[in-house]
Amino acid sequence: MARGRLNSGNAAEQELPKAKINRRSLHNIKQLFNYLKPYRLKFAGAMFFLFLSSLTGLAFPKLVGGLVDAASHSLKQGLLPGNLNDIGLIALAVLFAQGFVSFFRVTWFVQIAENALADIRRDTYFKLITLPMDFFANRRVGELNSRISSDLSQIQDTITTNFAEIIRQITLMIGGIILMAMVSGKLALVILVILPLLIPSAILFARYTRKISRAAQDELAASNTIVQETLLGIASVKAFVNEAFEAARYDKSIRNVARLGIKGATVRGLFAAFVVFIGFGVIFCMVWYGAHLVLIKDLKFGELIQFVIYAMMVSTSLASLPEQYANIQRTVGASERVIEILNDKGESVNIIESENRIKQKIEGNLSFNNVQFHYPSRPEIEVLKGVSFDATAGQKVAIVGPSGSGKSTTASLILQFYHPQNGELLFDGKPASAYSLTDIRKQVAIVPQDVILFGGTIRENIAYGKLGATDEEIEQAAKRANAYDFITGFPEGFSTVVGERGVKLSGGQRQRIAIARALLKNPSILILDEATSSLDSESERLVQEALEELMKGRTSIIIAHRLSTIREADQIIVLEKGVIVESGNHDELLQNESGLYRYLSSLQFEV
Ligand code: ADP
Repeated sequence: MARGRLNSGNAAEQELPKAKINRRSLHNIKQLFNYLKPYRLKFAGAMFFLFLSSLTGLAFPKLVGGLVDAASHSLKQGLLPGNLNDIGLIALAVLFAQGFVSFFRVTWFVQIAENALADIRRDTYFKLITLPMDFFANRRVGELNSRISSDLSQIQDTITTNFAEIIRQITLMIGGIILMAMVSGKLALVILVILPLLIPSAILFARYTRKISRAAQDELAASNTIVQETLLGIASVKAFVNEAFEAARYDKSIRNVARLGIKGATVRGLFAAFVVFIGFGVIFCMVWYGAHLVLIKDLKFGELIQFVIYAMMVSTSLASLPEQYANIQRTVGASERVIEILNDKGESVNIIESENRIKQKIEGNLSFNNVQFHYPSRPEIEVLKGVSFDATAGQKVAIVGPSGSGKSTTASLILQFYHPQNGELLFDGKPASAYSLTDIRKQVAIVPQDVILFGGTIRENIAYGKLGATDEEIEQAAKRANAYDFITGFPEGFSTVVGERGVKLSGGQRQRIAIARALLKNPSILILDEATSSLDSESERLVQEALEELMKGRTSIIIAHRLSTIREADQIIVLEKGVIVESGNHDELLQNESGLYRYLSSLQFEV
């Protein structure tokens, strides 16, 4: 699967890995080509123009040769008229045609690529956010994000330029060779003998430089990782007075980058010297032999010039092909990764935003029936080992237990982030599978321990509970969540921007916003993951009041960290290592002298 490979990428700035081009990878690319289908007419047009513009490119050496011959002999050369001005006019017409054609070729390719890429981006993004939670547990989200954006830009580059370049260069090369042979078969033969001798050595050089530059890139990525790690953990670096150690570690890595860079430059320098010597050598030999042919009147002067320009054109095209081929290989790799995400199985959620209606109502009865569960990423650790309990509509059920006992996992299962391997969850007596995923999630709300707000306004953040809620509904929800006063206390009120670029809200304030959000959503089942860090007593009172308001008339599953808040719960479930060891209400549980609840209570001085 894609996962292993997605993980292996180091940093976004690193050159994308190349993939072998074979039947399977071509099949993958075909899927991406489907995105070009809506634009196929334009694509065909752009290809045709591209071909035309390459052909007009081939006309120039001919025109230059014609001009020279017209100047020296005033003789007619081949198809061209013998008159200087006539040739000039033809050249102008060709230039104009080429400009015209080039404009459309460039803009059309970009239009196609931009539109097709927008479609691919939309689909990958949607696929990504609908992939099951497990997908995200295994990867660093930032990496995934940068990876996908660099993969997609690679594909975009290919559609806009890479493609066009390859076709142009191949046309120029083949056309150039044919025209060279037509101008002078003898000269063309000389080139055809010399070139094959040069190409292998050029390839060897190029391979070696690439190897070094890849090593330099890896080392650079490693040194960037050092920077990233130390900046993230800067508090630890300072607390352990390890600045000098980190600096030395970084220095060592960066020296390696420099060493590899210099080594690469030396090889490139040698290569440049080789190319200059041999390249110019070949041209020189050609002109030498050509001049000889001119002397014995086997070739016209203009034809020699024409031939030399064609030879340069052909060799530039030839030289650009390896880079273009490498680019195509990178695109094949990039599209494989994108395709793998596109083909991954997502959760079946509503695709259409406006389809907000709940189809199957849930009253709020919830049962766990012998639920056994392990996280797909860690099959060897059974997190829930046959958990059964019932919560009837409107009840408050608290789940307590030491950390790691499976409380949050239970909440994730209710939200259908994961599904049990054995046993089942029942909503109103019907198995979860009888409902659509969207219906369940629309009727279950969670107020998490650590509320993360999106970087928009407070109004938008509350409205997240019910897209399209009216201002009145939002204010009403804020009032019931004890949040109205502090919100209107800000100069911009509900339009205050929160998050990185806005105000920083306290933990208690964030929680009340999350409560307002949940109130707007008006769920039948509510999950409260109690904040572990204690709020100051004033905000705790406000949050507690807001929670009481929120819990009214709904089934509430409270993941309790402080036992003081759950005395009133109808049922307390005590989890230990994924097993329910006790259940009952507060008073009942305290009766059990050797029970875990009584023990935990005593730790919190609650007895
Ligand atoms: P609690 O909420 O009671 O502290 P959790 O439900 O968070 O406990 O965790 C129960 C067990 O599941 C722990 O051993 C934890 O390491 C493991 N666990 C939690 N989340 C994941 C996950 N996404 N992938 C794999 N294992 C997990």
